[in-house]
Amino acid sequence: AAPGGPGHPADGHDLIRVHGARENTLRDISVELPKRRITVVTGVSGSGKSSLVFGTIAAESQRLVDETYSAFLQGLMPGRARPDVDVLDGLTTAIVVDQERMGANARSTVGTATDANAMLRILFSRLAEPHLGGPQAYSFNVASASGSGAVKVGDGAAVRRSFTVTGGMCPRCEGLGRVDDIDLTALYDASLSLEQGAITVPGYSTDGWYARIYRGSGFFDPTKPVGEFTDAELHDLLHKEPTKVVVDGINLTYEGLVPKIRKSFLSKDVDALQPHVRAFVERAATFAPCPACGGTRLSEGARSSCVAGLSIADVCALQVTDVAAWVRGLDEPSVAPLLGALQGLLDSFVEVGLGYLTLDRATGTLSGGESQRTKMVRHLGSSLTDVTYVFDEPSSGLHPHDVQRLTALLRRLRDKGNTVLVVEHKPEVVAVADHVVDLGPGAGSAGGTVCFEGTVEELRTSGTLTGRHLADRTPLKQRVRTPTGVLEVRGARRHNLRDVDVDLPLGVLLVVTGVAGSGKSSLVHGSLPREVDGRPVVRVDQTPIKGSRRSNPATWTGLLEPVRKAFAKANGVKPALFSANSAGACPVCSGAGAVYVDLAVGGGVSTTCEACEGRRFDASVLEHRLGGKDISEVLEMPVAEAVAFFGSASEHREARVPAAHVVLARLDAVGLGYLRLGQPLTTLSGGERQRLRLATAMASPGGVLVLDEPTTGLHPADVEHLLGLLDRLVDEGTSVVVVEHHQAVVAHADRVVDMGPGAGHDGGRVVFEGTPAELVADGSTLTGQHLAAYLG
Ligand code: ADP
Ligand code: ADP
Ligand code: ZN
Ligand code: ZN
Repeated sequence: AAPGGPGHPADGHDLIRVHGARENTLRDISVELPKRRITVVTGVSGSGKSSLVFGTIAAESQRLVDETYSAFLQGLMPGRARPDVDVLDGLTTAIVVDQERMGANARSTVGTATDANAMLRILFSRLAEPHLGGPQAYSFNVASASGSGAVKVGDGAAVRRSFTVTGGMCPRCEGLGRVDDIDLTALYDASLSLEQGAITVPGYSTDGWYARIYRGSGFFDPTKPVGEFTDAELHDLLHKEPTKVVVDGINLTYEGLVPKIRKSFLSKDVDALQPHVRAFVERAATFAPCPACGGTRLSEGARSSCVAGLSIADVCALQVTDVAAWVRGLDEPSVAPLLGALQGLLDSFVEVGLGYLTLDRATGTLSGGESQRTKMVRHLGSSLTDVTYVFDEPSSGLHPHDVQRLTALLRRLRDKGNTVLVVEHKPEVVAVADHVVDLGPGAGSAGGTVCFEGTVEELRTSGTLTGRHLADRTPLKQRVRTPTGVLEVRGARRHNLRDVDVDLPLGVLLVVTGVAGSGKSSLVHGSLPREVDGRPVVRVDQTPIKGSRRSNPATWTGLLEPVRKAFAKANGVKPALFSANSAGACPVCSGAGAVYVDLAVGGGVSTTCEACEGRRFDASVLEHRLGGKDISEVLEMPVAEAVAFFGSASEHREARVPAAHVVLARLDAVGLGYLRLGQPLTTLSGGERQRLRLATAMASPGGVLVLDEPTTGLHPADVEHLLGLLDRLVDEGTSVVVVEHHQAVVAHADRVVDMGPGAGHDGGRVVFEGTPAELVADGSTLTGQHLAAYLG
């Protein structure tokens, strides 16, 4: 290649230089990444990829951006610690496009998150006509639009341009699209008085500030049980409008519980609430579509003004491919630039494989992969250049067919003059790298070094684990298992499913395939019953694990219980002493090891507790040892080390704890040997959370186990391991159903159910059911064609 061409950084000025990086498990490593090129970072799960790319490079870039804000604004933002690195230069502004789910705001939809709605609103304000005659005059036929690829828009295309859309948001629900109904009985315990703590709303306990306001308001007798309140008193407690009161000499505003709860809890996204508040909201509130706007979130004016026969709500309810067809049908020179921009944005959706989404889809319902690609759409139209884009496994959720478009897109970002950093494993994505950084060789403390840096071609012959696996092809199995039964799914119609009838084979490794949006999750999650033949159907997914900030693999899997007992026995004390939420816990951080400060703006920050230096326990507890280690040191141990420590061959007889050992062995088996027992669950990636759940599910074989893209975050070497594990589960009598795109997993399946043929309303059917060999021989589906190409 020519100097300066891909793979050949022009000179030292055109590099992002990282020297002496030590974040998490990185071992003082140095790398030089060419700017305005695509760098892919590879390595087994836990080798340190995220620590380098997100924890070091992106983190420092964002910290530098924060520093450009005024001191006042900085005071409002969570302080970011400087990553542990000696030198970092050549940074440009980093834009992190990750799989973190979107939806911190209940009003957020795909349309609002990408500017599509903003553009549509301008379009409607320029072109809309008020709702006059029958809507059928300009009816837009979605079915024919998608079928023929051509759209016929009625006479409405010739618009009279004079009306402005008024407002936008529905005033009744304020754009939320739903209204709430509060179960008043969940707010108080009628048998208690206010002094006794009658109010059962989180944050209103007897010693809380709010409880003092209610007690001291003067509106009721604080010693009278709420059940004996007069109607007027009960009304004041529940519904009183804001009123000035003086409590303990302080001027305050009193307001009834219901409006208060609406404001402080219900207007927020449920997922963003703290777990105990979320539990309360789930108990006390039910939500129904807003009767005023029918859930469209739009005002009367906005709903009745049409362009080419469609209101803005109608447009937002179409899938993006149809919106694109509608825009193409608008021939209005006065808004040509706007139409061009909108068309470009909609094309981006299609390009990243999201053409099946509707603009009114709440972002909170998107999967991790869909969230990442929606964020991508937001940036594609951007005219920023010389930005560093950072992606976290952008191929996740994508069929090989969609991956091709994704790689084209990464190239386009680069060619606009941006630096692109990608954490990925899929060979098709690694192949577009101009530069590869391979971390490893192992995970956790066995990783953290740079095994290889160079071009993809050099990687192939490098002899590193990644290099060797790059050309791997998992062959079709010689002998596939015969199903022991079937699960009959009849008339499945969830989301886009077209009245699907299918017999899902049981007793085998079943892989459900199909392009993104074809209906795999809708089929698997929507049609499986709670139990089959009296055995539970267990879903093992990547969603956040509910629990407190003190939760970690040791507490969550229950393995800490027998360990605590062993500590107690060895030291002649009570087991409770070794619990991070007991008397033995550090009093400052209550056993969290970290102090969490909730900030008004931008969430919160966690800092290591100074009292216990992150050790979580009171100094006196740490004097008790088991096999030479204190409880805090045990929590610092990686799983793989703990397997030996607590095993039957442990050199410390008192540390042989079979009950802990079986759980540890399972964690190790699912590829989590590098996790530390006490690592907070909040720091785990989606893939790691799923493997943690898988390890737990393995404790009770039998039944049906459903996995959603379990290869997320896994290196080809890890995938091999996972396949062995799934085989073992099936042999033990578990029916395993996997939604996957990974070719190795499809090739290794006993049976395949392929959804399609396309996405959204072009999908929703079962296009193939049979063995992988039959799928290849059939050759009529995209999955079959790609599998044939993969097998070579
Ligand atoms: P990869 O991205 O290659 O899977 P990571 O950079 O996420 O690897 O992790 C490298 C090591 O650092 C692992 O042992 C992991 O458990 C640990 N680790 C990652 N994040 C944190 C964190 N926030 N706190 C403590 N340890 C962490
Ligand atoms: P896959 O799992 O194959 O990617 P999905 O089952 O997630 O496909 O999606 C199939 C169709 O159902 C798509 O058109 C998608 O937009 C729609 N869909 C999926 N989840 C939801 C949801 N929570 N709300 C509305 N539509 C949804
Ligand atoms: Zn409404
Ligand atoms: Zn502490």
